[in-house]
Amino acid sequence: MLHEDDDGKSDFVSELLGADMLEGAAEGIAKQWLEKGEQSLSPKQLQIFEKYVLEANDPGACKRGCDIPWSEKFEALDNGGWCSYCAHMIDKVMRE
Ligand SMILES: [Zn+2]
Repeated sequence: MLHEDDDGKSDFVSELLGADMLEGAAEGIAKQWLEKGEQSLSPKQLQIFEKYVLEANDPGACKRGCDIPWSEKFEALDNGGWCSYCAHMIDKVMRE
């Protein structure tokens, strides 16, 4: 189940799971978060979720300094840390 109106955070988490990027407790907690929602996690689990699922896999801001929305973070992990707009611009410049 994907959460609505979360700016792509649940997509990001399910992409991490799909790519086998989470292990052990982080994996189980991420699955529970996706299926049952944030309210189902204990404060301790929520801490693990934020630290080992989100923070550990967050590429941070785009290399040009823009914020990367959750919906584009997974792609940024793959393309070296660019938001999709910058990645697109670089791609375009390279081809010209
Ligand atoms: Zn950018």
